[in-house]
Amino acid sequence: RWEVVDNYTMSHSHPASRPNASALQNTLAASEAAELPDISVSPAQAKFMALMLRMLNVTHALEVGTLGGYSAIWLASENPQLHVTTVEYDARFVEVARKNIEHAGLLERIEVINATGFDALALLKEEVLRGDRPRFGFVFIDADKPNSWNYFNMAADMCQSKAAICVDNVVRDGRVADADDQHPHILGGRLVIENAGKDPRVDTAVVQTVGCKGYDGFLWAVVN
Ligand code: SAM
Repeated sequence: RWEVVDNYTMSHSHPASRPNASALQNTLAASEAAELPDISVSPAQAKFMALMLRMLNVTHALEVGTLGGYSAIWLASENPQLHVTTVEYDARFVEVARKNIEHAGLLERIEVINATGFDALALLKEEVLRGDRPRFGFVFIDADKPNSWNYFNMAADMCQSKAAICVDNVVRDGRVADADDQHPHILGGRLVIENAGKDPRVDTAVVQTVGCKGYDGFLWAVVN
Protein backbone atom coordinates (compact mmCIF):
# COMPACT_ATOMS: atom_id res chain seq x y z
CA ARG A 1 0.00 0.00 0.00
CA TRP A 2 2.89 2.40 0.71
CA GLU A 3 4.02 2.05 -2.90
CA VAL A 4 0.47 2.46 -4.27
CA VAL A 5 0.05 5.67 -2.25
CA ASP A 6 3.44 7.00 -3.44
CA ASN A 7 2.39 6.33 -7.05
CA TYR A 8 -0.99 7.97 -6.51
CA THR A 9 0.30 11.12 -4.79
CA MET A 10 3.22 11.58 -7.18
CA SER A 11 0.93 11.22 -10.18
CA HIS A 12 -1.00 14.24 -8.87
CA SER A 13 2.00 16.38 -7.91
CA HIS A 14 2.21 18.71 -10.94
CA PRO A 15 3.24 15.90 -13.31
CA ALA A 16 2.68 17.95 -16.46
CA SER A 17 4.90 20.82 -15.37
CA ARG A 18 7.63 18.72 -13.76
CA PRO A 19 10.94 19.74 -15.31
CA ASN A 20 12.96 16.91 -16.75
CA ALA A 21 10.45 14.09 -16.15
CA SER A 22 11.80 12.24 -19.18
CA ALA A 23 15.42 12.75 -18.05
CA LEU A 24 14.55 11.24 -14.68
CA GLN A 25 12.94 8.23 -16.36
CA ASN A 26 16.01 7.94 -18.59
CA THR A 27 18.29 8.07 -15.52
CA LEU A 28 16.49 5.16 -13.88
CA ALA A 29 16.41 3.15 -17.12
CA ALA A 30 20.08 3.78 -17.93
CA SER A 31 21.09 2.99 -14.35
CA GLU A 32 19.17 -0.28 -14.47
CA ALA A 33 20.67 -1.16 -17.87
CA ALA A 34 24.16 -0.56 -16.42
CA GLU A 35 23.24 -2.81 -13.49
CA LEU A 36 23.59 -0.15 -10.81
CA PRO A 37 21.87 -1.13 -7.54
CA ASP A 38 18.27 0.07 -7.21
CA ILE A 39 18.95 2.23 -4.14
CA SER A 40 18.26 5.78 -5.25
CA VAL A 41 15.81 7.90 -3.25
CA SER A 42 12.10 7.59 -3.98
CA PRO A 43 10.48 10.20 -6.25
CA ALA A 44 8.50 11.50 -3.26
CA GLN A 45 11.65 11.98 -1.18
CA ALA A 46 13.47 13.64 -4.07
CA LYS A 47 10.54 15.97 -4.67
CA PHE A 48 10.36 16.85 -0.97
CA MET A 49 14.08 17.67 -0.87
CA ALA A 50 13.74 19.74 -4.04
CA LEU A 51 10.93 21.75 -2.42
CA MET A 52 13.00 22.30 0.73
CA LEU A 53 15.86 23.65 -1.40
CA ARG A 54 13.46 26.00 -3.15
CA MET A 55 12.13 27.25 0.21
CA LEU A 56 15.69 27.85 1.42
CA ASN A 57 16.72 29.39 -1.93
CA VAL A 58 19.81 27.18 -1.97
CA THR A 59 22.38 28.00 -4.66
CA HIS A 60 25.08 25.44 -3.77
CA ALA A 61 24.35 21.89 -2.62
CA LEU A 62 26.67 19.02 -1.73
CA GLU A 63 25.74 15.35 -2.04
CA VAL A 64 27.75 12.37 -0.79
CA GLY A 65 26.69 9.29 -2.78
CA THR A 66 25.84 9.97 -6.46
CA LEU A 67 24.97 6.48 -7.77
CA GLY A 68 23.47 7.20 -11.25
CA GLY A 69 22.75 10.86 -10.50
CA TYR A 70 19.01 10.44 -9.84
CA SER A 71 18.72 12.59 -6.70
CA ALA A 72 21.17 15.20 -8.03
CA ILE A 73 19.18 15.52 -11.28
CA TRP A 74 15.94 15.93 -9.30
CA LEU A 75 17.40 18.70 -7.15
CA ALA A 76 19.03 20.60 -10.01
CA SER A 77 16.16 20.29 -12.47
CA GLU A 78 13.61 21.59 -9.94
CA ASN A 79 15.89 24.45 -8.83
CA PRO A 80 17.23 26.47 -11.77
CA GLN A 81 19.48 28.54 -9.47
CA LEU A 82 21.19 25.47 -8.00
CA HIS A 83 24.72 24.07 -8.46
CA VAL A 84 25.22 20.55 -7.11
CA THR A 85 28.57 19.03 -6.17
CA THR A 86 28.15 15.28 -5.80
CA VAL A 87 30.72 12.72 -4.67
CA GLU A 88 30.94 9.07 -5.77
CA TYR A 89 33.84 6.66 -5.29
CA ASP A 90 32.84 4.04 -7.88
CA ALA A 91 34.30 5.11 -11.26
CA ARG A 92 31.78 3.03 -13.19
CA PHE A 93 28.85 4.69 -11.40
CA VAL A 94 30.43 8.10 -12.07
CA GLU A 95 30.53 7.33 -15.80
CA VAL A 96 26.84 6.36 -15.80
CA ALA A 97 25.93 9.42 -13.72
CA ARG A 98 27.80 11.82 -16.02
CA LYS A 99 25.98 10.41 -19.06
CA ASN A 100 22.64 10.75 -17.27
CA ILE A 101 23.46 14.31 -16.24
CA GLU A 102 24.49 15.17 -19.81
CA HIS A 103 21.26 13.66 -21.12
CA ALA A 104 19.37 15.87 -18.64
CA GLY A 105 21.22 18.95 -19.93
CA LEU A 106 22.66 19.63 -16.48
CA LEU A 107 26.41 19.19 -17.01
CA GLU A 108 27.03 22.86 -16.23
CA ARG A 109 25.21 22.69 -12.87
CA ILE A 110 26.09 19.24 -11.54
CA GLU A 111 29.75 18.51 -10.80
CA VAL A 112 30.56 14.85 -10.09
CA ILE A 113 33.72 14.25 -8.06
CA ASN A 114 35.14 10.74 -8.36
CA ALA A 115 36.67 10.15 -4.92
CA THR A 116 35.84 8.68 -1.55
CA GLY A 117 33.53 10.83 0.52
CA PHE A 118 36.26 11.34 3.07
CA ASP A 119 38.92 12.51 0.57
CA ALA A 120 36.50 14.70 -1.36
CA LEU A 121 35.05 16.40 1.72
CA ALA A 122 38.52 17.04 3.15
CA LEU A 123 39.49 18.82 -0.08
CA LEU A 124 36.19 20.67 -0.40
CA LYS A 125 36.49 21.84 3.19
CA GLU A 126 39.94 23.32 2.49
CA GLU A 127 38.57 25.13 -0.57
CA VAL A 128 35.56 26.49 1.32
CA LEU A 129 37.62 27.65 4.30
CA ARG A 130 40.13 29.33 1.94
CA GLY A 131 37.22 31.17 0.33
CA ASP A 132 37.80 29.49 -3.06
CA ARG A 133 34.39 27.83 -3.04
CA PRO A 134 31.03 29.12 -1.72
CA ARG A 135 29.63 27.62 1.46
CA PHE A 136 26.86 25.07 0.93
CA GLY A 137 23.20 25.78 1.64
CA PHE A 138 22.23 22.09 1.59
CA VAL A 139 24.06 18.80 2.11
CA PHE A 140 22.60 15.37 1.36
CA ILE A 141 24.49 12.47 2.99
CA ASP A 142 23.58 9.21 1.26
CA ALA A 143 26.73 7.07 0.88
CA ASP A 144 28.47 4.49 3.11
CA LYS A 145 26.31 4.54 6.22
CA PRO A 146 29.02 3.84 8.83
CA ASN A 147 30.62 7.17 7.80
CA SER A 148 27.47 9.31 7.89
CA TRP A 149 28.59 11.05 11.07
CA ASN A 150 32.09 11.75 9.66
CA TYR A 151 30.52 13.34 6.59
CA PHE A 152 28.05 15.29 8.72
CA ASN A 153 30.85 16.55 10.95
CA MET A 154 32.92 17.78 7.99
CA ALA A 155 29.91 19.15 6.11
CA ALA A 156 28.69 21.24 9.05
CA ASP A 157 31.92 23.30 8.83
CA MET A 158 31.30 23.96 5.12
CA CYS A 159 27.74 25.20 5.46
CA GLN A 160 26.38 28.70 5.56
CA SER A 161 24.18 29.78 8.45
CA LYS A 162 20.62 28.34 8.15
CA ALA A 163 21.80 25.62 5.75
CA ALA A 164 20.08 22.23 5.95
CA ILE A 165 21.77 18.85 6.18
CA CYS A 166 19.82 15.68 5.41
CA VAL A 167 21.10 12.19 6.27
CA ASP A 168 19.23 9.32 4.62
CA ASN A 169 18.37 5.85 5.97
CA VAL A 170 18.73 6.42 9.71
CA VAL A 171 15.65 4.42 10.79
CA ARG A 172 15.81 1.21 8.72
CA ASP A 173 12.60 -0.58 9.64
CA GLY A 174 12.91 0.73 13.20
CA ARG A 175 16.10 -1.25 13.76
CA VAL A 176 17.83 1.95 14.93
CA ALA A 177 15.98 1.69 18.27
CA ASP A 178 16.85 -1.98 18.83
CA ALA A 179 19.93 -1.86 21.08
CA ASP A 180 20.77 -5.49 20.23
CA ASP A 181 21.13 -4.65 16.53
CA GLN A 182 24.82 -3.93 15.99
CA HIS A 183 24.89 -3.98 12.18
CA PRO A 184 27.40 -1.35 10.92
CA HIS A 185 24.64 0.48 8.99
CA ILE A 186 22.52 0.69 12.14
CA LEU A 187 25.47 1.80 14.26
CA GLY A 188 26.18 4.48 11.62
CA GLY A 189 22.62 5.79 11.88
CA ARG A 190 22.73 5.80 15.67
CA LEU A 191 26.06 7.64 15.70
CA VAL A 192 24.79 10.47 13.53
CA ILE A 193 21.48 10.76 15.46
CA GLU A 194 23.26 10.84 18.83
CA ASN A 195 26.19 13.06 17.84
CA ALA A 196 24.26 15.53 15.70
CA GLY A 197 21.58 15.59 18.42
CA LYS A 198 24.00 17.23 20.86
CA ASP A 199 26.15 19.17 18.39
CA PRO A 200 26.02 22.91 19.22
CA ARG A 201 26.50 23.82 15.52
CA VAL A 202 23.08 22.46 14.55
CA ASP A 203 19.54 21.57 15.61
CA THR A 204 18.00 18.32 14.38
CA ALA A 205 14.84 16.31 13.80
CA VAL A 206 14.44 12.71 12.65
CA VAL A 207 11.43 12.03 10.44
CA GLN A 208 10.24 8.44 9.92
CA THR A 209 9.05 7.71 6.40
CA VAL A 210 7.16 5.00 4.53
CA GLY A 211 6.81 4.66 0.78
CA CYS A 212 7.94 2.66 -2.23
CA LYS A 213 11.34 2.19 -0.55
CA GLY A 214 9.80 0.69 2.59
CA TYR A 215 9.97 1.98 6.18
CA ASP A 216 12.92 4.21 6.91
CA GLY A 217 13.61 7.81 7.88
CA PHE A 218 15.91 10.75 7.48
CA LEU A 219 17.62 13.14 9.84
CA TRP A 220 17.32 16.83 9.07
CA ALA A 221 19.55 19.42 10.63
CA VAL A 222 19.58 23.19 10.40
CA VAL A 223 22.97 24.87 10.85
CA ASN A 224 22.96 27.69 13.37
N1 SAM B 1 21.89 9.66 -3.72
C1 SAM B 1 21.70 8.63 -4.74
C2 SAM B 1 20.29 8.77 -5.32
O1 SAM B 1 19.35 8.90 -4.52
O2 SAM B 1 20.15 8.71 -6.54
C3 SAM B 1 21.86 7.26 -4.17
C4 SAM B 1 23.18 7.01 -3.52
S1 SAM B 1 23.41 5.30 -3.08
C5 SAM B 1 22.26 5.09 -1.80
C6 SAM B 1 24.95 5.34 -2.24
C7 SAM B 1 26.14 5.62 -3.13
O3 SAM B 1 27.26 5.91 -2.31
C8 SAM B 1 26.54 4.45 -4.02
O4 SAM B 1 26.57 4.84 -5.36
C9 SAM B 1 27.93 4.06 -3.52
O5 SAM B 1 28.80 3.62 -4.55
C10 SAM B 1 28.42 5.38 -2.92
N2 SAM B 1 29.45 5.21 -1.90
C11 SAM B 1 29.60 4.20 -1.03
N3 SAM B 1 30.68 4.38 -0.27
C12 SAM B 1 31.23 5.55 -0.66
C13 SAM B 1 32.37 6.28 -0.23
N4 SAM B 1 33.16 5.85 0.75
N5 SAM B 1 32.64 7.45 -0.84
C14 SAM B 1 31.82 7.90 -1.84
N6 SAM B 1 30.75 7.24 -2.29
C15 SAM B 1 30.45 6.10 -1.71
